Amino acid sequence: MMGRQELVDRVSRYNPDTNRDLIARAYDYAEEAHKHQKRKSGERYFIHPEAVARILSELKLDDATIATGLLHDTIEDTKATRKEINELFGEEIGALVDGVTKLDALDLVTKKAEQAENFRKLLIAISSDVRVLLVKLADRLHNMRTMEHMRADRRLAISRETMEIYAPLAGRMGIQWLRDELEDLSFRWLHPEAYETITKRLASLRKSYTGLIQEVEKELHLKLEEYGIDALVTSREKKPYSIWRKMENRQIALEQLCDIYGFRVITGNVEDCYRVLGVIHTTWQIVPGRFKDYISVPKSNDYQSIHTTIIGPERQRVELQIRTKHMHEIAEYGIAAHTLYKETSTREGNGRLPPKHELLQDSSAYQWLRQLVDMLREGDNPEEFLEHTRLELFQDQVFTFTPNGGLIVLPHGATPIDFAYAVHTDIGNTCYSCKINGRPMPLVTSLKNGDEVEINCAPGHSPPAAWEKIAVTGKAKAAIRRATRAAIQEQYGRLGREMITQGFALADLSFSNDLLEKKLFRLPQGSMEEVFTAVGRGELEVDLVISALYPDYEAKPAPASKTAQRPENSWLGKAMGLRFRWVGANTGTMASGGPEAIPIRGAKGDLPIRFAPKGGALPGERIVGIMTPGEGIVIYPIHAKALQRFDDQPERWVDVTWDIQPGSRERFPALISVTTFNMPGSLARIAQLIGEADANIDKLRMVRRDSDFTEMLIGLEVWDIKHLNRIISGIRAMKIVNRVFRVQG
Ligand code: MN
Repeated sequence: MMGRQELVDRVSRYNPDTNRDLIARAYDYAEEAHKHQKRKSGERYFIHPEAVARILSELKLDDATIATGLLHDTIEDTKATRKEINELFGEEIGALVDGVTKLDALDLVTKKAEQAENFRKLLIAISSDVRVLLVKLADRLHNMRTMEHMRADRRLAISRETMEIYAPLAGRMGIQWLRDELEDLSFRWLHPEAYETITKRLASLRKSYTGLIQEVEKELHLKLEEYGIDALVTSREKKPYSIWRKMENRQIALEQLCDIYGFRVITGNVEDCYRVLGVIHTTWQIVPGRFKDYISVPKSNDYQSIHTTIIGPERQRVELQIRTKHMHEIAEYGIAAHTLYKETSTREGNGRLPPKHELLQDSSAYQWLRQLVDMLREGDNPEEFLEHTRLELFQDQVFTFTPNGGLIVLPHGATPIDFAYAVHTDIGNTCYSCKINGRPMPLVTSLKNGDEVEINCAPGHSPPAAWEKIAVTGKAKAAIRRATRAAIQEQYGRLGREMITQGFALADLSFSNDLLEKKLFRLPQGSMEEVFTAVGRGELEVDLVISALYPDYEAKPAPASKTAQRPENSWLGKAMGLRFRWVGANTGTMASGGPEAIPIRGAKGDLPIRFAPKGGALPGERIVGIMTPGEGIVIYPIHAKALQRFDDQPERWVDVTWDIQPGSRERFPALISVTTFNMPGSLARIAQLIGEADANIDKLRMVRRDSDFTEMLIGLEVWDIKHLNRIISGIRAMKIVNRVFRVQG
């Protein structure tokens, strides 16, 4: 506990105009309000809001924000009301506390649709006053720091939300230390084994590197002195989570990372930054391609620095960041630092200060937030929107609205046709035109974020078959196929009749419906219409029809008509946990039976299902089925290279989705290639890691072995794609491993 006086003193140290009374009153009020509450740890509750206020004072924020930190849980958890807060502390603080309370109610890691809606609410809430977000971030930081006493499932949910939403937002606000700490705390709870592995390896690296790093530091000091440059040198080490992320993204081993260790050189002015750079580049050899000048081209969150990497005396790589004191403050405090500097310069001008929150609004971090919300409203450039948010969660989605403001979340590239089917199948089936943002637009337009879509329907209207190719969502595609099936059937029938008539004419034989009716028993089809459609689809040779009517007719040898494949191995489909939606022209109705049923039914009967031979698909990955003569439906991951072969045969593609039952204990095969340095016990350690990660080794094959490296293929059985990625990252983090990747056909 730091006590009321200490907090007030801390704030007045960076803000001489502090309203000491206001902060003291907020402190006393919150302490009193939470008097009878305890935290999960058994400590008194008030230590939480107090710690939040302290974090906000580290960010050197204004009085209203500090007071909000103290009061942020009072409306939600105590008898306090917005009205009372307004009366005691003013409207501004009342609105801030209310904003934070509303954010607390948003569960951001839930079902996708709700998540999108909640994310939108979050952005709109924080854009009206960004201080709400700063308080929320401080609140989250303190909760993450003190999570041991929380229930394990809550702990995971909060860590995930922090990793996916709040840490990126802290980064976007330019508060780097806050982002790093939030990520690291989440990482620790989300991937405890990985966290431990990396922490251990960092410790051992540190041991072997310390001397070398000190050597570089000493030489750097000497050189700076020699050139008369006044600068502060601090050393830094990369956090476990950012190491993990780099290893995951770039598929490299820990030792190959350039920037685990480094120095920051902090100078008094920009000119000195470039002088320091010159000194460094004449003293050490540099790593090509690692030089970046964010001073002349700042990042979009105002970050400025020069980055360069040198090769040290033992060939170890050391990253150097060079920046001024001002740039350093911006890098660490982001949007918060912005107010500070703005303030001093404004003060010099006229001696009077504009309100703090207006200053916050001048920063580019705040501008970013505003833009984001405007994009959500106006629907500008979705790519840019997503690049800016960098919240990977929402990368494949567009947010669109109905005329009454309902949110419809669609995949990227979706059209008003998808939109109509997402609202209701009947609306999709009967729609014939649309308006986007009040203007008539073609139904094939790609929707953008924020589009408001109005669909016009006409009863009796039915969708043209071509829409199936235009629609993006499975729901729309399936519905269009269903609706157009009858029409397609008719087309095939017409075509078949045409082919038969022509065939008979060529053979110089007469044909009539009556004649066919009489000889139907000689054909597998049950009705005349079926004969026509079968011929139209190419399932029945015209020659066979002629032979049925004229048994003496000498047909050219024709391939036997393919009979329906019986589903002997349909257990396979069941075992794979796949459910099929296939209502192409060749099938009957779409089956929607229970999990036990094989959900394909139709003219051809159930089709056998199997995975592509090399590198099967895993749950969590998008998959596609390819109709393969003699084999049935072969499942490929959507990124499989082998799929290129079928690019020009769209009629063979089948829309399939996973239908894994919750709690299913089904494992799936995956293949990885691992290259290790030849060290005793390598394989045993990899096998142990795989076992500990709850995966099975199904087969193992040495591919190549030379004096230094061994390359092997390991067949695994895993739960899903996330499970596989976790295992790959775990293996990659091992010292004995040089390279590891998934093998796919
Ligand atoms: Mn709180």
